[in-house]
Amino acid sequence: MTLAICSRAAFARPQLEGTTMGFGLKTEAHFNAAHFLTDFQGKCENIHGHRWRVVVYLYADTLDTSGENRDMLIDFGVFKKAVREEVAKFDHQFIVERGSLANDTIACLERETFSLLMVDFRTTAENFARYFYTRLTSRGFGVSRVDVYETPNNCAIYYGPCGGPHDGSDASVVHMA
Ligand SMILES: [Zn+2]
Repeated sequence: MTLAICSRAAFARPQLEGTTMGFGLKTEAHFNAAHFLTDFQGKCENIHGHRWRVVVYLYADTLDTSGENRDMLIDFGVFKKAVREEVAKFDHQFIVERGSLANDTIACLERETFSLLMVDFRTTAENFARYFYTRLTSRGFGVSRVDVYETPNNCAIYYGPCGGPHDGSDASVVHMA
């Protein structure tokens, strides 16, 4: 299997016309979880839940030329499995930004056997999009874009260097505990 890793230099911005046309794949998964936003003046400062929908796009300029994946960007099954694995970590968790709850609060929640997942980022849809981009890229996937929907109408997008509206800057790494 050849994972399609984009050439940043040549494909910083896929074009609809011209010489930099290529191929894309898209798959999605979702997770249900609770969170709250620290330092936010509004409803989202309180604990609430979402059905986060995560849509991942791959991009490649060429397809595999031999073997069982000939004329494919990548085996869909491999792609779908990886996305589901990354997303599943968050399902039915209370996602908490590290440092945003007092230690005794955490101890109480854990005593009640609630399942907390501590992360090192503010739990915005933008940061989740960047997180999934970083995770899947580190696994060798040529991710061009990740969409994270908090609601059916509200979506944050992270563009990688090989798929974004910008040329240049590398994706920042978001670490999860
Ligand atoms: Zn929210």
